[in-house]
Amino acid sequence: MKYPGIQNYINGKFVDASSERKLKVISPVDGNFLSTVPMSTARDLDDAVKAAKAAFPSWSKLPIKERVQVFFRYKYLLEKNLKELAELVQEENGKIYNEAVAEVEKSIELTEFACSLPQLVTGEILEVSKGVECRTEHVPLGVVASIVPFNFPSMVPNWTIPNAIALGNCMVLKPSEKVPLSSGRLAQLLKEAGLPDGVFNIVNGDSEIVEAICDHPGIQAVSFVGSTKVAKIVYQRSTHNYKRALALGGAKNHLMVLPDAKADMTAQNVAASMSGCAGQRCMAASAMVGVGNVDHIIDKICEEAKKIIPGKNLGAVISKESKERIEKYITEAEQQGAKILVDGRGAIVEGKENGTYVGPTVIDYVKPDMAVAKEEIFGPVLSIMRTGTLDEAIAIENASPYGNAASVFTQNGGYARYVMEKASAGMIGVNVGVPVPREPFSFGGWNESKFGVGDITGKSSIEFWTKLKKSTTKWNPEAGINWMS
Ligand code: NAD
Repeated sequence: MKYPGIQNYINGKFVDASSERKLKVISPVDGNFLSTVPMSTARDLDDAVKAAKAAFPSWSKLPIKERVQVFFRYKYLLEKNLKELAELVQEENGKIYNEAVAEVEKSIELTEFACSLPQLVTGEILEVSKGVECRTEHVPLGVVASIVPFNFPSMVPNWTIPNAIALGNCMVLKPSEKVPLSSGRLAQLLKEAGLPDGVFNIVNGDSEIVEAICDHPGIQAVSFVGSTKVAKIVYQRSTHNYKRALALGGAKNHLMVLPDAKADMTAQNVAASMSGCAGQRCMAASAMVGVGNVDHIIDKICEEAKKIIPGKNLGAVISKESKERIEKYITEAEQQGAKILVDGRGAIVEGKENGTYVGPTVIDYVKPDMAVAKEEIFGPVLSIMRTGTLDEAIAIENASPYGNAASVFTQNGGYARYVMEKASAGMIGVNVGVPVPREPFSFGGWNESKFGVGDITGKSSIEFWTKLKKSTTKWNPEAGINWMS
């Protein structure tokens, strides 16, 4: 075991969980045994909520300009420790080093946004009748929870930590049991940045802790990022308990490619989108719809895909089960008559034989009713469907229950505008393979890719992490009473 057994982080200290039950943390890079992670119980969660509740009065009372000072220092610490943080992400998640660096850089950008919150949360004031003023202010909620997935061990926790805490809340984070190491390191950096004990806490575990979070009466709001199946459970259970909830789910993102698209640029974008982070991104291009004759572009996509080498510029998928599941999808598509143009099954990286790799895979002549066309594969696999018209392509996109992202590749502004209008997704790309809106714009899909109102990052997150207080004041009794005062 490379790292000592992972502990929970409660009230500024690393502490053992109350249960003996532990899972192994295995590196997908080479199968190495990294650590163990405790499967905490509702009792451990209760300790964390108590600590957060105790820290809330003094933390929330600080002016936001003082609270964000912690995040200026945290941003500096993320920068200072970037290499080490990226190596940790790489080790526990399996992505390549450059992708891990990009993930930590994105965490820095998210923190920069939180530092700008004082400029964005000013309330409003208006004299509504003679001497009578109404004013609004954003008030923190109290103790909030953030439940995160395995695919971005640094970035997704940082979607919520800086904003929720800078806005005055105290937090309990539930990391993915598959990648719990980065979260512990973030806790250390927050403490080093001067965050008071109890404001940020970590409770490790699995579904038991997630359910306990949804049920705990001391938690005011729950944010969740993960698969649609679990997002539905968390959204339903949290709101059933009268909590505010925002649950981001899975995705099946469509790229519509028109014959007039710039072939080289399109091929590079499509290949990078489907294979980045080994296809384990909720924004990955998983389904391509070629409109008309796009054979010349598909040839180039295959050329690009063949330059992507497992263990070199393509990371591992998270586990053995994941690798088997992805390869099964490819085999089923082949059996159903699709054509495998580039085959990533059976990938083995020399010297890392116990790593879990799937090579880039391009499948052509996929039919819209095949599983590879409809379901989230979460691996470096591109399923290509063919249509005669753009409307048919849009109909395929619209039929998906998901709605995270959709992109179009064309040089025709009219067609691009048409897709922007018709696609049923929260994030649209024009000649962009991974249309992630950067700060201050907010991140969030539609349909079964997100449950709840508003988005998780950017300006939209202010509404989620705060409630509005409306005060009406009158200091001029001589003005008398009328119906408006
Ligand atoms: P997951 O849903 O399996 O797990 C997410 C979290 O839920 C983890 O902390 C896990 O411990 C917990 N969990 C798992 N099963 C549970 C259950 N039955 N009951 C209660 N809690 C449970 O997701 P994952 O495999 O870690 O991550 C991959 C998924 O996340 C993909 O579907 C991907 O698209 C999605 N994702 C979405 C976004 C987005 O912005 N929409 C971003 C990143 C990842």
